[in-house]
Amino acid sequence: MSFSNHDIIIVGAGFFGATIAERVANELGKRVLLIDRRHHIGGNAYSENDRETGIEVHKYGAHLFHTPNRVVWDYLNRFTQFTDYRHRVFSAHKGQVYAMPINLGTICQFFGRHFSPDEARALVAEQAAELNGREPQNLEEKAISLIGRPLYEAFIRGYTAKQWQTDPRELPESIITRLPVRYTFDNRYFNDPYEGLPVDGYTAIFERMLGNPLIETRLGTDYFDVKAQIPEGVPVVYTGPIDRYFDYRAGELKWRTVDFAQEVLSVGDFQGTAVMNYADEDVPYTRILEFRHFNPERNYQSEKTVIVKEFSRFATRADEPYYPIDTVEDKRTYLAYKTLAEQEKGVIFGGRLGTYRYLDMHQAIAAALKSFESEVRPALT
Ligand code: FAD
Repeated sequence: MSFSNHDIIIVGAGFFGATIAERVANELGKRVLLIDRRHHIGGNAYSENDRETGIEVHKYGAHLFHTPNRVVWDYLNRFTQFTDYRHRVFSAHKGQVYAMPINLGTICQFFGRHFSPDEARALVAEQAAELNGREPQNLEEKAISLIGRPLYEAFIRGYTAKQWQTDPRELPESIITRLPVRYTFDNRYFNDPYEGLPVDGYTAIFERMLGNPLIETRLGTDYFDVKAQIPEGVPVVYTGPIDRYFDYRAGELKWRTVDFAQEVLSVGDFQGTAVMNYADEDVPYTRILEFRHFNPERNYQSEKTVIVKEFSRFATRADEPYYPIDTVEDKRTYLAYKTLAEQEKGVIFGGRLGTYRYLDMHQAIAAALKSFESEVRPALT
């Protein structure tokens, strides 16, 4: 396997790596080697059609594209069209179903009467005053200080306990800074001006981004198995875990992971919507995704449906790292790696794993476009 015919090596075929690869080939006309240890392109945004039903399934959890960033929106529209999908989330609690995030509709339904926006605001403010000005000491108190106890106990407590596998009274208050409450009946999940799902799936975006013959993609290839064969002087863009790159010498960065239990059910429609949260603690999963509802325009003819139950837990080194935990100790550890990364000649660190940050897809693309201009272009020209 040759590593000598390329101007740049990119580790990771997710949105960060693919954006850099596309720019280097199409804008600079340089040769790219893109490697990924997985057997597919797309990173965590990868999707595939379920064999039995033909329904598109996001393999690493629901991926909803939304952005306030016109530059990213225009960039991605070169590789795909988007559907009109507008994301909505519901939450099941004690045998009822409510719209999330908490909005005026949720409040009227939950408290069983018609509130005007000002009446609802006054009610939530009164319930949130329970701490009497005292500083919140943990996540539970912080949440109560934001939305009051009744809404917290119904919609936040059980869900958070399952997400973190920890009682919210033992979680630091710093995990949440705000809990959005909308005092209108608008139940759209995102506020961004640009939103939609790719008409022919996420993987097709990556196939088009990586379509230039100047890009060679090698899958099933771990960077650390081939690192020694990469010629000196060839720049590397690394989007894998930063602590792994430095052999965990400053300690391990902590993540949460999600276990996905996928089932094909013999019903045309299981839950009538794409995402149903389960707020109560006696249900072990946090939410159920039903993929046919992400693409209603495809009018899937299957009599069956694909659902995924999500179970959240702390990740071990063997698990897929999904959400940075980002405690004070993690922040310190990351800073130590960041300093090491700055001293590492010829390697550009990027993406969510390379910078230990939760990034939405649009943020990963924006960061890659920035890195292309400020770091990659100067290294190659
Ligand atoms: P990734 O997509 O993780 O790509 C990194 C790639 O590097 C991986 O393919 C990995 O295999 C590869 N790699 C790592 N180490 C090595 C190595 N040693 N050698 C070779 N290859 C290696 N964003 C949204 O905008 N909307 C959503 O609804 C949304 N939902 C999400 C749900 C979940 C459960 C998760 C975890 C993320 C979600 N995201 C969502 C975020 C989105 O997945 C990220 O923004 C995006 O994946 C970031 O792209 P990336 O290229 O930085 O990382």
